Parts: sequence; structure tokens; C-alpha cells
Amino acid sequence: MNLHEYQGKQILNSFGVRIQRGIVAHSAAEAVDAAKQLTAETGTKWYVVKAQIHAGGRGKGGGVKLAKSLQEVEEIAGKIIGMDLVTPQTPPTGKRVRKVLITEDVYYPGPSETSEFYMSVLMNRAKGRNMIMYSTEGGMDIEAVAEKTPHLIFTEEIDPTIGLLPFQARRIAFNLGLSGNAFKEMTKFVTALYTAYVSADASLFEINPVLKTSDDKIMAVDAKVVLDDNALFRHQQYADMRDLNEENPIEVEAKAVGLNYVDLDGNVGCMVNGAGLAMATMDLIKQAGGEPANFLDVGGTADAKRVEEAFRIILKDPAVKAILINIFGGIVRCDRVAQGVVDAYKNMGDAIKVPIIVRLQGTNADIAKALIDNSGLAVQSAVEFQEAADKVQAVLA
Ligand code: GDP
Ligand code: MN
Repeated sequence: MNLHEYQGKQILNSFGVRIQRGIVAHSAAEAVDAAKQLTAETGTKWYVVKAQIHAGGRGKGGGVKLAKSLQEVEEIAGKIIGMDLVTPQTPPTGKRVRKVLITEDVYYPGPSETSEFYMSVLMNRAKGRNMIMYSTEGGMDIEAVAEKTPHLIFTEEIDPTIGLLPFQARRIAFNLGLSGNAFKEMTKFVTALYTAYVSADASLFEINPVLKTSDDKIMAVDAKVVLDDNALFRHQQYADMRDLNEENPIEVEAKAVGLNYVDLDGNVGCMVNGAGLAMATMDLIKQAGGEPANFLDVGGTADAKRVEEAFRIILKDPAVKAILINIFGGIVRCDRVAQGVVDAYKNMGDAIKVPIIVRLQGTNADIAKALIDNSGLAVQSAVEFQEAADKVQAVLA
């Protein structure tokens, strides 16, 4: 599950990671109140208005703006709230901004220069270890750094059973070129950040920039946090942070009926049982010259009700030109699935306007094929994988 910047920062703060202070606002008027409150709490003279959407690169797209007075806060917040913000990470039409984070300005002048670092915590699956990636070249162009000067990105591997050791935190602070108080602050920051990552059951923390202020404090100015969905059951307060406005509406609906659905860009809808078979089916569709419109794993109970729900979800995507049903009947018998397909088709009446190819393999596959073939419906059956692919190819041609 993805979080907004302000939610990610709340989590960081709760584990003692220093953050740039901010207050969420849903309107220009709330933004002004937030700014006043921030000045009362932190003494800040300037503010930053930051669009809250589930995408990075907001600065480049005009979604992060410095405001030097309450009047500017009002003007800028008024403009950003309600806009469709386009960034390198959003769809070309952008994402609607529904709220902004008003923050204190932390790039104030002082005894030393400010520096922007990059830092992320994630899992290195190949090594079975957690990993902190970091760089002196933080800020808005980290992708270019990774591409052109990858030697400027360091990694620190952490054994999950031992945790982050003090010398590792010191090595990070050292490699970032810090000394004195900033060095101490950085070791504290990294240690708290790693604790937060593990404790929150996160799969990604990306803090870009981590700022060294002009008076040598280290803080998170941005926060991209992704939590592991499978662990949300033990973090109700994080599960409540889900923002359905930011998610694909078809995926939200699929989740509500317990279907494992991921929306994709192609034209062939697929309904499959089992994630592995779903992946293989998507490959098959590509080989046949189509593009999968979705990943959909209906799971172990492909009865009529479930098949119908899956049909309805697939058909919500207007790009779908054909549907391929590829079910292996192990525990669930093929004839029951076939009956489910036929019943669902009949129940849905005119809703299904695209050709359907059904491949049922496994227990009672022959009975299932006969059921489909004799149903009188515009459903084509296939037994072999290749046969199904050929039929998909034929209907797309
Ligand atoms: P992103 O563009 O979506 O990654 O959003 P960020 O939260 O990283 O903000 C973008 C940029 O805004 C940062 O890289 C900073 O350069 C700038 N910025 C953020 N906070 C402040 C601030 O308090 N003062 C000033 N002057 N600039 C800031
Ligand atoms: Mn950023």
C-alpha cells in the first residue's frame, strides 16, 4: 500500500526520525490556518505548499512551491488544490490534487551550507537482506544520478536477524561527508529510520531529500513509504491511512469482492486460477499478438458467482476486445467452472459483447468442453494451451 508524504512522515516521526514539520490542508483557508499554526510552533517565516498525490516528481511538475507570506500560501494552495498535477510519475492526464501539506521552510540560511542527500531502505531479495541505499547527490534528479554516475550511490546491507549495527550507521554518515554534530545527527537519523522501516512492516522507505540544515540538523523533507499489504492486519492505524481516491477504481472494486486483480494497458482480458498460471497466460496472450488487459487470479473457488464477478470486473475496462479464461481444474472441477461460465454469461445477458475463449484443463475437462460447446453461447472452448492462443489470435485479427 502506498502512502501520502504526510502519512509517511507521521510514521517516521512516531519512531523518532526528525521530519520537516507540516500540517495537511484541504482548502486555501485551511492552508492559511496551517501556516499560522506552523509559525506559532516552529517560528518559520516562509512555508512550502506541497501537493499530496501518490506520485513523485511533484517539484518538477509544479506541485511543490515556496510561499513567502500567508497571502502567497493562500494563492498557491488555491491553485494547487483541484489541479490535475502532471509529473514524470503520473499518467499523462495527471492526478487530481485533493489536499496539500503546508510545511515549515527548512532551507533557511545559517552557519553552514544546506545539503540534500538521498536515502532509501528496502529489501534486497537476491541476498535476503535489508539494504540502505544512499547518496550525497540527493534532490530532484536522483534518477539521472543512478543512470549517469552510479558510483555515487552507496549501499549498506543489513542482516535482518541482527539489525543495523552502530558501525554501519557511522559508515553511512562518514560516506556522506559529514562531521561534528551533523555526523551524530545522521547516525541517529539512520538508526531511527531503519527501526521505523522494520517496525512498520514497510517494503520501501525513500527519503529524498534527507536534508542537512544550515545549523546541522538532519531531517526528512520528503517521504515515499510503501507498506507490505500482507502485514497490514497487524497495523490497523496504517491500514486506515488507505486513500481510495489514489487507487485504480476497478482494482478497489475487485479487492472488495476478494479478487486478485491488477489493471494493465492491453486488450485481452484474462481470468485465471493461480498466480503462476496467470503469468503464463499473460505470456501466451503476448505471443498470440495481444496485450493482457489485466492480471486476474480468481483463486480456488471458481463457481458461477465468482466467475460472474470476475466477468463484471474485466468488462469495466473499455479496452478489452476479447476474454481468455484459462482455468486448471484440480480441486475445483472443470465442469463446475464451465457451468459457472455458462450461468454467468446467461445472467449477464447483453453485458458481454466481446468474444470469449475458454480453456479448461484438468478434472472433467471433457465434460466441461461439451458443456461449453453445447451451450449455444458465443463462447469458444479450447483444450490445449496453443489452441487457446490460436483462437485469441484469430479473434483479434
Ligand atoms: P518531489 O519533487 O515530489 O520529490 O517533492 P519533494 O518533497 O522532494 O520536494 C521537492 C523539492 O522542493 C525538494 O527537493 C527541495 O528542493 C524543495 N523543498 C522542499 N522543502 C523545502 C523547504 O522547506 N524550503 C525550500 N526552499 N525548498 C524546499
Ligand atoms: Mn522528493
